[in-house]
Parts: sequence; C-alpha cells; structure tokens
Amino acid sequence: MLKTVNQTKTAGWMRDLAYHYDRARATYPNDRLIVLFDVDGTIVDLRYMMLSLLREYDRIHGSKYFRHMGLTDIDVNENHMDVLLARMNSLSDKMREEVAQWYKSRYWDQDVMFESHRPFAGVMEVMRWFQLQPNTSIGINTARPESMREDTLYSLNGLGREFKVFFPGELVHMSPYAWDSDVENCKREGIRYFRNLGYRVVAFVDNEPENLAAISTMEDSNEIMLLHADTLFESARSRLPRTTVSGDTYDITELAYADTLPRHVQFVWHGVKDNNGLAEFIESDVQWCEMDVRTDPVTGQLVLTSEPIDDTLPVNLTSLDVVLDAVIRSERSIKLDIRENGHTLDALVAEIRDRSVPEDRLWFSANIDELGEGGFRRLRRTFPRAVVQCPVDFMAPLILAMPERAREILDSLSEWGINRVSVKWDNLARRQVLDSLEEWGYEVNIYNVPDLESFLKAALLLPTSLTADFDSPSWPSRIALA
Ligand SMILES: [Mg+2]
Repeated sequence: MLKTVNQTKTAGWMRDLAYHYDRARATYPNDRLIVLFDVDGTIVDLRYMMLSLLREYDRIHGSKYFRHMGLTDIDVNENHMDVLLARMNSLSDKMREEVAQWYKSRYWDQDVMFESHRPFAGVMEVMRWFQLQPNTSIGINTARPESMREDTLYSLNGLGREFKVFFPGELVHMSPYAWDSDVENCKREGIRYFRNLGYRVVAFVDNEPENLAAISTMEDSNEIMLLHADTLFESARSRLPRTTVSGDTYDITELAYADTLPRHVQFVWHGVKDNNGLAEFIESDVQWCEMDVRTDPVTGQLVLTSEPIDDTLPVNLTSLDVVLDAVIRSERSIKLDIRENGHTLDALVAEIRDRSVPEDRLWFSANIDELGEGGFRRLRRTFPRAVVQCPVDFMAPLILAMPERAREILDSLSEWGINRVSVKWDNLARRQVLDSLEEWGYEVNIYNVPDLESFLKAALLLPTSLTADFDSPSWPSRIALA
C-alpha cells in the first residue's frame, strides 16, 4: 500500500514570525504592513482535493481502487498524481495512465475547487490575527493565472468566512502568465505589486523552496521574512534561502500574547469560588469577575458555588459579600451567575442595590428555566443599564434548522430584558450559530473554552465577551493579561 507522510516538525516558525512582525511594527510605526501568503500547498491543503477526486473516480467508474486510501496516504504534490499511482500494485499501467489523465482533466474544475479545497488547520486563524493588528493586512501572492481570479476569490472567501477572514480583490496578486510558467517571476512581481500599492512587505509564506529563493534575490528583500510551509512541494529543499524559517503547523498560540489580543472583547475570569481565586483575579488585568451565587441552606447567606448544595453535609463555602466588596474596591466589574430563584434572587438584588455599584459594571446571568420571565424582568427593571444574559445553547439546533422560529424565541427573551446571549465554544463548531446571532443583533458571550488555543480562536471571532479559566496551570503568563 501507499507510504504515509512522515514529516519532521519544526516548532516555532510562527513565534519567529511574531517577533519579526513586532520588530517591523516598532521600526515602521506608521507604515502599512502586509504579510503575503501563497495559496496552493500553503493556505489550501490540496490533499483533500486529490483524495476526493480519486474517490469520485471510483464512484463514477464503479471501481474500488481507492476505497482504502486516506488523507495521510497522499504524500505527493498535486502535480504528481502519477507518482502516487505508480506505487499502487493493484493498478495496471493502462489504468494508471487512465486515472492520471482523468485527474488532470478535472483537478482545476470550478466545482472541484469550490467543494474539495480545504485550508490547513490554523492558517485562517493566523491570517485573522494579522488582519486584526493595527494597520496590517494579509495579501495573496499566487501563481494561479489571472483567468482564475473570480473563482479563486470566491473559493478563498468561502473558506475564510467562518473565521471572519476576508480577502479583497485588490490584495490578491495572480499570474499574468500561463499555468506553471514564469512562476518565479510572477512571485517577484507580486512583491513589487504590493510595494507599489504602498505596503511594506513583512513576510512571505510559500511551500515551494524555489519561490522563496526567487524572492531572496530581489533588492531590498532582506527585511522580508521568508517562511517555508513544509507541506508537499516540488522544488528541491536545498533551494531554500539560508534565512528561511520552516514549519508545518500554523499554531495560533505561538503568535498571540496579551497586548495583541483583540481590545474590544470583554474578558471574564471564570467562576471565582474562594479567596485564592479572588487574589489571583485581582492580580490579573482581567476586568470581569464571575461568581456563581446560591443560598447556604443552613445559614441563609449567599455563597459562591456552581453546584447544588447538599444540606445534609457540612458546608464550607465562601460567602458572596466578602468577594463582592473586594471586587468593587478593586474597581473591577461583576458578573453574577444566579443559580437559584426565590431567596437567592431577592437577597442578591438587595445586596447589589445596597452597594450602589455603577450599572455598567454589572452583569447578571441565569438559565431561563431558573429565573423565568418574572425574574429576568425584575433584574431589567431594577438595573436598567446592566447586562442581563442567559445561555442559549439549547437553541443551537433550532438556529440552524428553523431560524425563523429561533428568532421568535430570542425576540421574547429580549422582551424579558435579556440583552446578551451566551454560547458554549462547542456549539460554535458550527459557526452559523454565531453568524446568525450577530446578524440578528445579539451581543454574544462565548464560554466553556477548554484551552488556550480555543480561547485564542474564540477571541479572534470578536464576540462581545469571552469567559475563560485564566488561572489554569496551562495558561502561559504572556496571555495571562497580567
Ligand atoms: Mg504553492
């Protein structure tokens, strides 16, 4: 059977890029900076296209040659299907020739491009991160011919949509030459094109060593960082310029650190439960402190816990008022997750009113079945300018399948006074949920992000707010916002 890909991983190329970008930013504070990407084998992982075409061949021809083939079996560049086929003993020479011809006639068809092109994991987030930095753009420097401009833009913007990445036509440079001719010239002309538009080219990412070599011979190329996407390529690795940095994983956690995070997202410190958590929160730069509130059934006091309290066991929970006062003194903002109706809601409303906290620093959250219409309306009446929120994870399937009905329900929630909805990160795997909520005008909080990578991906979507475990041991200090 086929050989599987065995690539050596080079960690850190994205970190190198971040440092290089920072230096460029510091050296040229007022310049428009741009990072350029090749498309095929750099942004788009063409193995998906190759696999999908081989499976299509089987389907159309009623054959089973490729039914055991998987993505990792594809270890050749898209132009070398013949090499892949040559290794398959089950195919006669005649069949190899036939499959190769059929593949060649089909692999740049529009429907293939639209349906089977997929981005490498993480590359869209990396581009999004740059697009969110001040005065910084992403440009495309591809040797696909001009005749493919419209389809290329449609395809790339389709792939980018769920990551909020957009490629304007002006920032896509394509080849004026025929397919596969003058590629190196075309790449050099791409650099000049962006310079003529007034950009300072900071870096260029390409999977072909000879394209990077071509750029390295240009005048003034020494300030362009050359990055080799170590995926599948045709030209010799030995052609890589000496200064190139290589990598095969677009890891957003290498790029981001505290002062480059999106500024307008409100970060929320997840569930402070005790004095230790409080102290860590106060030391950080996070503005919002989340507290889960229940009533201690024995003392009748408000305490901090998300779990129901078993009143047959001894209870030793931190009381709300201590933490509340400390958060107010530190001039931070308060997110209260109200876990129970009745006494808990009554007592909480009284506690907050007594302390006259400015309402723009107040946020109440509860499940709709816990507080019901009456509870939410009361919060809105009492604190007209506070955030009032409920989770809407239960709505996710409805938003996708019956958007009109979903909207009616959300409208009712707005009438109760709810002005922000909260969605688990998992439920945003289908980004249409977020798109719809934002399109309908709802502020969105994202919660339950499992790790740093998900946190960064979530932040790049620019929700109104984002709740995370900033005190998790896996959280690097450069993101601790402290
Ligand atoms: Mg390429």
